[in-house]
Amino acid sequence: MSLSREVSAKKNRFLTRPDTPAWLVQAGDLPNRLFITPAEKELIDLLRKHGELTKNELVNFTEHSRTKVTSSTDSLLKKKFIIENPSTEYSGGRRSRTYSLNSGLVYVAGVEIGATSIHLAVADFSRKIIAQHHEPALVREGPLKILGRVCELLEGLMQHHELNTSHLRGIGIGIPGPVDFSNGTVVSPPIMPGWDRYPIIETVQQWFPVASVVVDNDVNVMAIGEVSQGAGREINNLIFVKIGTGIGAGIICNGVIYRGSNGCAGDIGHINVDKNGPLCHCGNKGCLEAMAGGAAIAERAKAAALDGKSAILLSYYERNGGVLSAEDVGNAAREGDVVSNQIIRESGQMIGDVLASLVNFYNPDMIVIGGGVSRLGDLLLSSIRQTVLGRSLPLATRDLQIIFSQIGQDAGILGAVNLAIDYIFTVETGAAVDV
Ligand SMILES: [Zn+2]
Repeated sequence: MSLSREVSAKKNRFLTRPDTPAWLVQAGDLPNRLFITPAEKELIDLLRKHGELTKNELVNFTEHSRTKVTSSTDSLLKKKFIIENPSTEYSGGRRSRTYSLNSGLVYVAGVEIGATSIHLAVADFSRKIIAQHHEPALVREGPLKILGRVCELLEGLMQHHELNTSHLRGIGIGIPGPVDFSNGTVVSPPIMPGWDRYPIIETVQQWFPVASVVVDNDVNVMAIGEVSQGAGREINNLIFVKIGTGIGAGIICNGVIYRGSNGCAGDIGHINVDKNGPLCHCGNKGCLEAMAGGAAIAERAKAAALDGKSAILLSYYERNGGVLSAEDVGNAAREGDVVSNQIIRESGQMIGDVLASLVNFYNPDMIVIGGGVSRLGDLLLSSIRQTVLGRSLPLATRDLQIIFSQIGQDAGILGAVNLAIDYIFTVETGAAVDV
């Protein structure tokens, strides 16, 4: 057998998730991986979802025999991936011993790189956040500076909490641009000069060589956070809509993220709303984000202030030294400003119109609204909700929930932590298959 055939045979003994990028199954990467069998992976996923389960519950949740579940739990206990909790007394009798994840097994990091900030967290294996840090940073300053800062902060955070960096086995990173998930690079990002196809994974792995690094679009990461630890925990089909300076959506289909063929599914910010609308940074006119995003809200408020239509907005404008933000518009609306109220309502209607089409097309159980502009509050949400309910098919909206993110500003870091954990295991399928 030639060397290359040996390598491919070796690779075929291992399966990660079906959507695992090629770089994660390279032979050279294998020594750093945590190996489990398919049945063990199933049990790990159940414990991730439910926290603590008895052996009977594990048997009921899977299609495996009790013997198979026993051998798998024994193996996981031996590898220290899970722990056994003692049986407990309760009024109805005695609850059997339960199993849960060994929270101290490994550490993972969740990193959310925004247009103007870095937010990062270190979590244990049970996804409990141990430490986090947030600071302003301009993504347009380039990958070298931003990724260097991310690694420096991560190392500092771990050292400060006396955590061994060699136990950091997974790093999930959310990026505010289109990500080709198959190789973890950003492709032609509009607001990120210098990042186009930059080797993010290799750069971060130079600092943390034993960690699996996974990169995804920021909105996908937030959607993963919401279904893993937020409002969508029991939801199969969900759309997470991030309304910030831009607008984007993350799609959860049958419980997992749907990225599309090239990783850019859900880029709803560039759906056309008005052919004669303002120019978008993508080069087209009247895109949803150019009409209803945070920058558009601020721009319309500025025009109203300078036209003398709102004394409150003008006072904010003057107080800020000639600028207005979407947040100012929200505050002005809360103070009773009619113009601000109108701008937010119209923005909600435009977003609602696009979401109504998505609801008719995709029939989700839940739409979750997150991102900075969602802090504009109930006025925005009620306007979105009213438009979606008014314009979608009754059957599609019968059980549809439209809510704000339950994990708010932590959706990004929690999603990145969960994304990282998804890829720290390599599932060993057994006998090598020659090809
Ligand atoms: Zn556009």
